[in-house]
Parts: sequence; C-alpha cells; structure tokens
Amino acid sequence: MVASRFKDKDIALIEGNLAIAQKIKISGGGKCNVTNTQVSYKNYLGNCDFIKPILDAFDQNALLEFLKLRGCEPHIRKDGQYFFKHSANEIIEVFQREIEGVKLFLNHRVIKVSKKDAFFIETDKGVFKAKKLIIASGGLSYPKIGASGISYEIAESFGHCIKKTTPALVGFTLQKEQFWMKELSGISTTVDIRVGDKKFNGELLFAHKGISGPVVLNTSLYWKKGDIEVDFLPNYNLKQNLKNSNKHISSALPLPKRFIKLFLESIDIIDKSVSKLDSDEFQKLSKLKSYSFAPAGNFGYQKAEVTRGGVSTDEIDPLTMMSRIVDDLYFVGECLDVTGELGGYNFQWAFSSAWKLTL
Ligand SMILES: Cc1cc2nc3c(=O)[nH]c(=O)nc-3n(C[C@H](O)[C@H](O)[C@H](O)COP(=O)(O)OP(=O)(O)OC[C@H]3O[C@@H](n4cnc5c(N)ncnc54)[C@H](O)[C@@H]3O)c2cc1C
Repeated sequence: MVASRFKDKDIALIEGNLAIAQKIKISGGGKCNVTNTQVSYKNYLGNCDFIKPILDAFDQNALLEFLKLRGCEPHIRKDGQYFFKHSANEIIEVFQREIEGVKLFLNHRVIKVSKKDAFFIETDKGVFKAKKLIIASGGLSYPKIGASGISYEIAESFGHCIKKTTPALVGFTLQKEQFWMKELSGISTTVDIRVGDKKFNGELLFAHKGISGPVVLNTSLYWKKGDIEVDFLPNYNLKQNLKNSNKHISSALPLPKRFIKLFLESIDIIDKSVSKLDSDEFQKLSKLKSYSFAPAGNFGYQKAEVTRGGVSTDEIDPLTMMSRIVDDLYFVGECLDVTGELGGYNFQWAFSSAWKLTL
C-alpha cells in the first residue's frame, strides 16, 4: 500500500523476502481476512486517540472501494470478516499491478539505518541513500517468513520508545493443573472467555501444546498474566437444564463426551446420574460456567499472528505518520504499538496507517 500510494515519486521498496506480501499470502488460511464489516478503535489495543482518526480517514469502506476500483471484491463471512473466495493472491495481484514501475529491491535485508544529510539504509546487498524513510517492516511474529525486529532497532537508534513487545493472537500453554486439556487435542467447542473487562465468544480448540482457536487468540491480545475465565456452556443454564434429569452427566450436557470425562476427572467426580449429585458436587460441576485458570504462557512468535506493543505512538504524528523526533522518518503498520483483534483488523490497520502517510 505504501509503495502504491507514492508510485509517482522517486521511491524504492526494500523487501527481505524474494516476493512481496508473504504475510498476506498465508493469512486467513490462504484466503486473507482483509477487513471487517464493523471496524472501530475498540477492536484495537493501543491509544484510541491515535488510532481513531487514522481508521476514520481510511475505513473498511474506503479499503473495499479501493479494491473494487481495481477489480477485486472480497466476500463476507457470516461473522462479518471479508475474505477472498479463491485465494489471497487476488489482493496480492492488485498490489503487484499497483506498484509496477516502482524500484523493487527484493531479497535485500535491512541491517541498520543512520542519518546525516539523508538516511543511509544499510542492507546485506549494499547501502541506499534516501531523503525520506518509511518503516513498514511489521513485527516479530512468523520469523520463518522474514519477520524481524528491525523496525524497533531503527526506532530505538533514533531515540524512540518501544512499548514492550509480546506475541499476540496466539495459543496458550498450560499449567500442570490444566494438562488434562492436552489429552483433548483436536477437539473443539464453543465457549465464552473473560479476560479483564473483555469477553469473547467463539471456538476453543484443544491442541497438543495447550489451547488455541479464534476465541483464545483474541483473549491472548488482552492477557498479560493471571486468570482468564472460561464458560464452557455459553447461553446454557446449568441448574435449569439439569433440574429433573436422570441422565448421566456426560449424556445430559451438550459438550464433547471426552471433554466431560476428563473435566469430571479433574474435579474428582465420577460420571453418574445427575440426580445423584449432592450440592457440593453440583457446585464443582458449575465450574463449567466459570472455569478460572492462569495460562502458563503462549506458543511464541513462531505461531503468533501479530506482535503486541511496538514503536510508541506518543512520538508519531497521526496526521502524517512522521516521527516527532526525527524529520522525514515515518512508521506504519504492525511495527507501531497498535494491535487489532482477530478478524481483518490488522490488515485494516496496516492499510489505514499507510493511507495516512503524508510525505
Ligand atoms: C499466519 C498469519 C495469519 C494472519 N492472518 C491475518 C488475517 O487474516 N487478517 C488480518 O487482518 N491480519 C492477519 N495477520 C496479521 C497481519 O498479517 C499483519 O498484522 C500485517 O501483515 C502487518 O502488516 P505490515 O505491513 O505492518 O507488516 P508485514 O506484513 O509483516 O510486512 C513487513 C515486511 O517487511 C519485511 N521485513 C522485515 N524485516 C525486514 C528487514 N530486516 N529487511 C527487509 N525487509 C524486512 C518482511 O519480509 C515483510 O514483507 C496474520 C498474521 C499471520 C502471521
């Protein structure tokens, strides 16, 4: 997007990979969730006063219009996410056409940047000189497709503050007490999860390493440490539904049987007729509605969709995206301390912030 906006100027695009847009290519399971019917600063972690005007200046409708004008129309999923029916290549081809004529330096890894009368951009293939420099090199997640911390290194070298970076939109590893969940690897169920004052609904996927799935990924964005609370039976009144039941617990509850078996073992209750549960046991079973535990950590940058934290937005002018510390130095996209929820919000941010660039 950055290169497409300034293709009429004398610009060079430096990219470490052998091709552009590798993250777009693998995103959304290869179909790229590019934006959402509902986009608000509330879907982002970061300074809302900084985020809001940038989203407003180039919102989801502007992005859809931009793509439509170039013959590319994403489809809407039931949950409001826009995606590409055939593949993410649909949008990649748009940008390939858009930047035709731009000097493209692929397979050039930026190592260091300094500034004298101009910026000197040191790469593994030589040094570039530029009057203005736009950093759009993303965050640390998915190093196997070229992610690096170069944006933070450059920002810090020019005196910018970096808000602590951590993997986000990522699965959780578990503490010993929840290891029983690992035995459910491959099973999924719809849950509500509370994290701080946020609540998400969606699919939780039990995995070999811990728990994952859309609802967990969203939770990870707002989790730092401490407890999260899972409702394994959202919109289900346990007392009401089990009141007159003579069924065994595992048959009475609308949950995967294997999950109930292991859950019951973890709270020391045998699978018996619901009518035989005493009040203490019923109380323990009620934990299904508010199962609190602290994840051990997360699956790390190798698996995280995004990096939380980054270049502090306090030192970036939201009207131009220029550094308030160094003239002619700009930051956009994921390298900034702005992180979106799952559902197309991170691409929307990357495109909106690139649109706001004023050189
Ligand atoms: C598996 C996965 C799935 C995702 N799915 C979605 C989704 O469906 N919807 C959504 O909104 N978001 C999704 N995201 C997040 C989204 O991809 C990013 O937030 C977004 O791509 C950030 O855009 P960016 O331009 O800031 O950085 P990036 O897209 O990461 O681009 C940065 C570029 O800089 C290059 N670079 C890095 N370091 C150097 C260096 N030292 N020298 C030269 N070049 C360098 C990289 O090779 C890369 O091409 C997903 C992320 C992952 C990892």
